[in-house]
Amino acid sequence: MELTTPLTYVKGVGPARAAMLQAKGLVTAEDLLGYVPFRYEDRSNMKTIAQLAPGEMATVIAEVLVAKLSGFKRKNLGLFEVRFSDASRAILVGKWFHGGYLANVFGERMRVALYGKVEFDSYAGELTMLHPEFEILSGDDDDGESSLHVGRVVPIYEGVSKITARMLRVLTHRILESLPPEDDYLPQYVLDRLKLPDRWTAIRHTHFPPPDSDLRLLNAFRSPAQFRLIFEEFFWLECGVALKRAKARLLPGIAFEINDRVREQVRAMLPFKPTEAQKRVIKEIAEDMKAPRPMNRLLQGDVGSGKTIVAAEAAVIAIENGYQVAVLAPTEILAAQHAFYFKQILSKLGYVTLLLTGSFTPREKAQLKKLVSEGLAQVAIGTHALLEKDVEFKRLGLAIVDEQHRFGVLQRLGLVQKGVHPDVLVMTATPIPRTLAMTLYGDLDVSVIDQLPPGRKPIVTKHTTDDRIEQVYSFLKKQIDEGRQAYVVYPVIEESETQAMKAAEKMYEHLSREVFPTLSVGLMHGRLGAGEKEAAMQRFKEGQIQILVSTTVIEVGVDVPNASVMLIEQAERFGLAQLHQLRGRVGRGAAQSYCILVTEKMNDAARHRIRTLVESTDGFHIAEMDLKLRGPGEFFGTKQSGLPSLRVANILRDSEVLEIARREAVDFIARPPSEENLLRAVAYIRDHWQRRYGLVTVG
Ligand code: ADP
Ligand code: MG
Repeated sequence: MELTTPLTYVKGVGPARAAMLQAKGLVTAEDLLGYVPFRYEDRSNMKTIAQLAPGEMATVIAEVLVAKLSGFKRKNLGLFEVRFSDASRAILVGKWFHGGYLANVFGERMRVALYGKVEFDSYAGELTMLHPEFEILSGDDDDGESSLHVGRVVPIYEGVSKITARMLRVLTHRILESLPPEDDYLPQYVLDRLKLPDRWTAIRHTHFPPPDSDLRLLNAFRSPAQFRLIFEEFFWLECGVALKRAKARLLPGIAFEINDRVREQVRAMLPFKPTEAQKRVIKEIAEDMKAPRPMNRLLQGDVGSGKTIVAAEAAVIAIENGYQVAVLAPTEILAAQHAFYFKQILSKLGYVTLLLTGSFTPREKAQLKKLVSEGLAQVAIGTHALLEKDVEFKRLGLAIVDEQHRFGVLQRLGLVQKGVHPDVLVMTATPIPRTLAMTLYGDLDVSVIDQLPPGRKPIVTKHTTDDRIEQVYSFLKKQIDEGRQAYVVYPVIEESETQAMKAAEKMYEHLSREVFPTLSVGLMHGRLGAGEKEAAMQRFKEGQIQILVSTTVIEVGVDVPNASVMLIEQAERFGLAQLHQLRGRVGRGAAQSYCILVTEKMNDAARHRIRTLVESTDGFHIAEMDLKLRGPGEFFGTKQSGLPSLRVANILRDSEVLEIARREAVDFIARPPSEENLLRAVAYIRDHWQRRYGLVTVG
């Protein structure tokens, strides 16, 4: 057996089990070794039932006395009860709601390991466990291996389809028994410095901890063996990132010239005095653009911090050097708004800006594309339509991607390939927690705008329930009487924009006819044509519309400084990042702004989100909370394809290991002990890790 041996060669894995494993991405022996326990039980010196204390989490091994569906309480709950006993002769009752299926699982006299919270049912005078995890110990299909399951610290795996934790334990053990020890590819000096066990020991001890193991460390994923595997995974990831970055720096790029004339043009374009943060950031960008290698820079700044003008400054530098600029935006509204903004400030300099989105007719598109390919338009702004194959630039020098988290890495590349190593500036208002930034955007340099334009007052955020909506409406009316404008937003789950549109339309009718008959109310949703959207936005900008009823299509980027109220209905249905983005639509002018979150019914998670938002306007804090609540995969939504698939490590749980691994990796790549050492590592990453990490260009 080798690491690459398919699992079908392992005794006990037939076609059915192989298919179940494969569905989880487990195909080879190595895959299964990477499938580590999520918990451990100390079954070496266990308590008897008589020794259990109510309130504690405990493991016991006991025998089934009776197992039956209980007639107790309402029948349809299907309460299944199993009475257990052991040598202490005390009774423990396991209870499972909707447990009818267990009738075929438990039989009299079976030996079972149970894990759960011990409770005392004072009515019946019995110790109970509600929905304990369990493992049937008798009825072996793995003769001779029963010592794996008791009398030691036992690994508990997440079951794979119908394959139980117990079976996984057996399979893993069989693989470990028949595999020769694996080579260790981590540099020796790193092993020594961090006192890490070798790889083979680490794998064996992670699955089958030695007798003297510390259970608490194991369950915190910090045993030396687990630490080593987590570290290793991060180490190779960060080495890959460092290599990719080093390689990108060797590419020939455009060395933009920044002379007095360019500086003069930039000054002529600026509609206001940049903040200190904006000045610092544009300086970083300018330095990058001057250098004869492609810029790869991430521009982070909370909503409203003024990223657009920084992008425009970079654009002026590129254009003055005879190059074109592409601006990619995730939604039509945002693209249209950018086009409007850029046109306004760049036409002063005589540059031509055009907008290209999916909703133009083929003829219009053809004309626009011609302007771009002939170099008659200096700036092309658009949605995904900009990525189409037949969009060709005469001389693309700068690619700007706004709200980067909405795009996958490949789309970024798609835009870049329309030029010859153009400079790239990606902008995001989703502050990316440091740990994620290190893995996802490790190959980018980062600039942060950490300051809002002057005169901004912090947005006041309030939460209320829908039975008090009248008060909210009269507050809205008062703000509008003072000359302000307002947004009213309805929830939409991405798949059902039609539904949200209907809700918004209905609300629009209601608000415009009954609640605010004297005000001018507008409607915005994703099903409007691009022209209609642009027109509605324009009328709102010019103040002709006082209240804009909308779905979340206005979530990103929309900028109307006079709007001071963001009213979000059914706020419990929005995610944290989304709420923060929506809130960021107000607070852009000098007037005090308000965000009012109206909820109908909330669960705990929603309550947590609403509280976080009411208490904080700090985008970084909110992003960290969001990441914790949802996990890294969900954090960016499904479109974010750049997340590495980690096996043992977990970005949230193991962030401090990631920091250590990154430091070591950067150090190793910069100063490898020998050339040979480095080549060995590069080859290892290429063979083993590249596919998983999506490090497309390593090597
Ligand atoms: P975001 O970073 O969210 O994209 P924008 O670029 O849309 O923010 O800027 C938000 C608003 O602040 C815009 O109306 C913009 O014109 C204005 N703004 C940006 N920078 C400054 C500044 N230095 N002084 C005054 N207003 C500014
Ligand atoms: Mg923006």
